Amino acid sequence: MRWLFGPVPSRRFGRSLGIDLFTRKTCTFNCVYCEVGLTPRTTDTVDVFAPAEEVLNELRQYLTEHHDDLPDFITFAGSGEPTLHRDIDTIIHGIREMTTVPVVLLTNGSLLYRENVLQRVLDADYLVPSLDAGCPETYQLVNRPTAAIPFEKLIEGLLAARKAYRGHYLLEVLLVDGINTDEGELLKLKKWIDKINPDAVQINTVFRPPAESSVHAVSEKTIRHFAEIIGEKAVPVAYYTGRGVRRHVQGELLRAVILKTVGIRPCTVQEMTDSIGVSQKAMANAVEKLMASGKIYALDFDGVRHIALVEEPEKQKDSSK
Ligand code: SF4
Repeated sequence: MRWLFGPVPSRRFGRSLGIDLFTRKTCTFNCVYCEVGLTPRTTDTVDVFAPAEEVLNELRQYLTEHHDDLPDFITFAGSGEPTLHRDIDTIIHGIREMTTVPVVLLTNGSLLYRENVLQRVLDADYLVPSLDAGCPETYQLVNRPTAAIPFEKLIEGLLAARKAYRGHYLLEVLLVDGINTDEGELLKLKKWIDKINPDAVQINTVFRPPAESSVHAVSEKTIRHFAEIIGEKAVPVAYYTGRGVRRHVQGELLRAVILKTVGIRPCTVQEMTDSIGVSQKAMANAVEKLMASGKIYALDFDGVRHIALVEEPEKQKDSSK
């Protein structure tokens, strides 16, 4: 699979089949918490990345082969900002014609102020933009955006989307310990959230190894406190738990699925066990073999062991630009 990955474990969207429209990190932001790593160069240039036909053909084949075991959601995610793709509307329409599995668009929301970009995403079942800051200064600290998108434009886009979009509008706030968590910042966030008026506010934190190693998750207490500030719309993001479905993926195939999964982002062994749906023993064997062959390695983040992909020399070169 070139443009699909997973299904991967998602705290917010269960077993989620991912669509990654990019071959390398491409984003308007360079968030300190990004689990894909640093953005080589932020951009606001909309372009064609993954060819729409290729993405749709791949998805068609996947859905045919897995018709008795469909994912909970099909999610635009992965290594970049999906609204930078000029043909995202064609891809969303194509998916909607192909399946009833709901389409989720995770976006940093930075381009929604542009009318043409906003029009392209209106058919997604779930629109999930982010807001991590209540003021321009914190926005610069957390999201480190391209200069072309100041805080005011981000807010303008989030408000415009609320007016135009008719599906489930979920705003995500990711709290980073000590950066966007003082009381004043939380209250400013609350003010913007009230203006935007999303259907729900997903409160998230840094669960996976971030772009900047100095960045850490907030405590559950902080998440609970912010949820109280937000009120009834708050949905603190819980730890992912699998559905307990067991599949007979093994050998080469299981190892290939693991490599694809951790190639998108580091995962814990438990997350992969739940998401792929194999036994603990099969997963442990496969992980051990991949470790021994030098394809993956263990990475500690906040005391939790994750499995990460050893990058190819070419990829390392790209991400160091
Ligand atoms: S977290 Fe999302 S918006 Fe931020 S840099 Fe990574 S891909 Fe871009």
